Amino acid sequence: MIPFNKPSMIGNEADYINQAVSKGHHISGNGPFTKKCEHLLEAALGGGCRVLLTTSCTSALEMAALLLDLQEGDEVILPSFTFVSTANAFLLRGCVLKFADVDPDSMNISLAEVERLTTKETKVIVPVHYGGVSCDMDALKSFCAEREIYLVEDAAQALGSSYNGKPLGTFGELATFSFHETKNIICGEGGALVINDPKYFERAEIIREKGTNRSQFFRGQVDKYTWVDIGSSYVMSDMLAAYLFAQLENMDEINKLREEAFSYYVEQLRPLEEQGLIKLQKHLPKTNGNGHLFYLLTQSSEQQKDMLEYLNEQGVNAVFHYLPLHTSNRGVQFSNLCGALPITEKQSYQLVRLPMYHKISRDELDQVIQTIYQFYKGS
Ligand SMILES: *Cc1c(COP(=O)(O)O)cnc(C)c1O
Repeated sequence: MIPFNKPSMIGNEADYINQAVSKGHHISGNGPFTKKCEHLLEAALGGGCRVLLTTSCTSALEMAALLLDLQEGDEVILPSFTFVSTANAFLLRGCVLKFADVDPDSMNISLAEVERLTTKETKVIVPVHYGGVSCDMDALKSFCAEREIYLVEDAAQALGSSYNGKPLGTFGELATFSFHETKNIICGEGGALVINDPKYFERAEIIREKGTNRSQFFRGQVDKYTWVDIGSSYVMSDMLAAYLFAQLENMDEINKLREEAFSYYVEQLRPLEEQGLIKLQKHLPKTNGNGHLFYLLTQSSEQQKDMLEYLNEQGVNAVFHYLPLHTSNRGVQFSNLCGALPITEKQSYQLVRLPMYHKISRDELDQVIQTIYQFYKGS
């Protein structure tokens, strides 16, 4: 069986965890490995931001919604084609969700959709860089700047990707990454909040520390450690940061191997696209990806079901996602606010994701590719 994902372990993870544990004095949050990871990430993002490690990307999104002081009834525009956390973070603050359709070539939110859904109540736009491929950030950034709307990037899948040479995660006032084991750079469960506007930094540290000024206290900046704001427990354990540090040190190499696998899929499956049997992802101008995931579009929802069944029978663990949020039990409440989202509704039922992980071998890739060719020969 070729798995869909294999969590990577590439070098010093165990050694660093051992260091974190054996020193024995700091295995909770905000310890030495946490700081090393934050510095590496800040450098990778070009140095103009602050990064805080969190327990997950979900937590980082919740922190973003808290930091922006969103109120009941504030409207948030986000794609329906995303993971539930993009929505939950804002729903927890009582926001109204406006689900946007996606561009057929990228499965990303488009400016036209943002324009369609924007009202006087719009406070935040949340672009999701699907598969690590950038949204149209020039357009979204200037749209938000003109209207004083916040931009929060859900860059969960996009660490190492860029737009116009600028790293994703540096466009919004705030941005979030995930280190869940299904992402490129991992530590089991984990995330990061990127703060691109310095005015949020002090409060972000407080919110991450359960609403206390603990971080300032330990730096000797205040003489009492006390409750000063709302917050929650969003700090990552230093044991997990130790694993993460080993991964971050090898980030370019990890992303490069995934991009090579991605290109090989494209090259080998191109003939099927030329015969009109599938559609492949287009390479979009100005975007530079990180090989996070590979998908193709089948011709119909029946073909998607048949292909998934065939691949899995033949030992290739292919999957699909997302079930559009505006059609889910929880999201349907907002569906009258967004209208039909035809591209999302169509393409999420045509999409098939193929196995993709660090060090997926040529033989494994060939087996996946051959199985897809066999599927079309038989059908
Ligand atoms: C993975 C993912 C998340 C959630 O990340 P966690 O670290 O598991 O909380 C959020 N948004 C998107 C787009 C994701 O892919």
